[in-house]
Amino acid sequence: MLNFNAGPAALPPEVLQQAAQAVIDYDNTGLSILEIPHRGKHVDAIIKESETLVKELCGLNDDYEVLWMHGGGRLQFCMLPMNFLGENETAGYIDSGSWAHEAMEYAKYYGNVEVLASSRESNYNHLPALPTVIPNNLTYLHITTNNTIFGTQCRELPISPVPLIADMSSDIFSKKTDYSRCALFYAVAQKNLGAAGVTLVVVRKDLLGKIKRTLPPMLDYKAHAAQHSVLNTPPVFALYICLLTLRRIKAKGIDTIEKENNTKAQLLYNEVSRNSLFHTSVKYEDRSLMNVCFTTKNKEDEATFTAYCEERNIVNIGGHRTTGGFRISLYNAISISAVETLVSVMQQFEKEHK
Ligand code: PMP
Repeated sequence: MLNFNAGPAALPPEVLQQAAQAVIDYDNTGLSILEIPHRGKHVDAIIKESETLVKELCGLNDDYEVLWMHGGGRLQFCMLPMNFLGENETAGYIDSGSWAHEAMEYAKYYGNVEVLASSRESNYNHLPALPTVIPNNLTYLHITTNNTIFGTQCRELPISPVPLIADMSSDIFSKKTDYSRCALFYAVAQKNLGAAGVTLVVVRKDLLGKIKRTLPPMLDYKAHAAQHSVLNTPPVFALYICLLTLRRIKAKGIDTIEKENNTKAQLLYNEVSRNSLFHTSVKYEDRSLMNVCFTTKNKEDEATFTAYCEERNIVNIGGHRTTGGFRISLYNAISISAVETLVSVMQQFEKEHK
């Protein structure tokens, strides 16, 4: 099966194999990973190694804390303003897609929001340009580096005079990135990292001293940092899958991963442009290497192409429920040969349906 789902996304086969083995017998303990105590030495080692690998892969030092949290992307949308935005303060948001928009809507519960740039009017088919000067009276600036639903992606993180907070859910570890430009970044696991149920948060320690409210510990970043992600029972299995993926990323190297991701995206975008049956309205310079969004020129071809792919074991190619069309997700686990197969199926479909 070739699974191009946007998340939960395909995982590398070797990661699935190791994860399956750990469910039966974790590291020759005679116990399943689902049964081991979360405050014992095994989970402690998983958390420590994963923290070290995240910092190493991001090129960050001990100025940053690595946290594994529950609640997905949306809990981060809440916790960020809850922790860092005072009632009379203003945070800047870049409205570059539905997730960016939702993050901004959550912030309004806690303080003021200034939309610094938006492409909502054109249905997010491009990245809105950041203002040349980012106001330095903002409490923080929030951006979404890859817009999973609309298939646009920032090439580089901005340099911000105020703490930069980035939702990197759908492109973390996909290319070289200067993570040190962020005061905090986060990523749900179910795309480039592992299984749903755990979210990676990396926060610069000085930010933890700027929490604006007294919060219950589960909603307070400082409390999570103090307990090294075991404030309560962590999703150990989901976390272990992240560790396996992080080990694979390290072994492969970000440079190689980036090259492969470029090749995969280029193969597919070239075919979408060349093929007379398909079309994309995503602005060329802003096209995502992770989520390739396009449509058929004739609406009737959409269901036919979906069925045509399914007959050839190519699944989960549909666009987000709000946009329709197609979305092919090319996260790190997708091989170049998987994309070549899809491209040849698109070519065959054109021959038979032109
Ligand atoms: N941010 C981005 C960029 C996303 O693509 C998603 C959706 N997977 C989310 C946030 C929301 O994540 P969750 O469903 O875990 O709340």
